[in-house]
Amino acid sequence: MDKMEILIDEEKLQSRIKEIAREIKKDYQDEEVVFCSVLKGAVFFTVDLMKNYTGPCLLDCVRVSSYEGENSTGKITLKLPLKKENIEGKNIIIVEDIVDTGRTLKYLVEYLQEFNPKSVKTCALLDKKARRTVEFNADYVGFPIDDLFVIGYGLDYDEKYRNFPYVAYIKNN
Ligand code: 5GP
Repeated sequence: MDKMEILIDEEKLQSRIKEIAREIKKDYQDEEVVFCSVLKGAVFFTVDLMKNYTGPCLLDCVRVSSYEGENSTGKITLKLPLKKENIEGKNIIIVEDIVDTGRTLKYLVEYLQEFNPKSVKTCALLDKKARRTVEFNADYVGFPIDDLFVIGYGLDYDEKYRNFPYVAYIKNN
């Protein structure tokens, strides 16, 4: 088992997610939004965010890949594309687990624009600002974090540890 330490416990996660749901509701009021979950990492976050969201909303999913182990391959591949009819004219909120270099969300925002949505915003649970290689800021952020490799609450290390109800980081020694 890899050595790890808890970074954000379950209580802190859940209470911040409730706040984000309220922030989003305040912005959209009674307008419908589509939460577009970036598989697989954002699944846990999307579920809890939607359970706490009190306005009209729909769920969609997109899948991209750019990471293997702890290292980004640098190339973003679209593995599960979206359907135009689910995006056109709608308020989209892309829900992501973490912003690292910023490439994935930047790519997805550009990709979504092709389907003529009414609006596109982004919501990331975690934000590693120090690692940005492209200019990108998410509209809603749960927690800014240091440059650590995190796992749990949907985030994996070679597909392991997604089931942890908290966010932890892998200790190198
Ligand atoms: P970006 O395109 O912003 O560099 O990376 C976004 C994706 O990289 C995230 O969706 C996530 O899958 C992966 N990623 C970035 N940092 C971490 C991390 O610390 N832990 C894990 N498990 N995945 C990460």
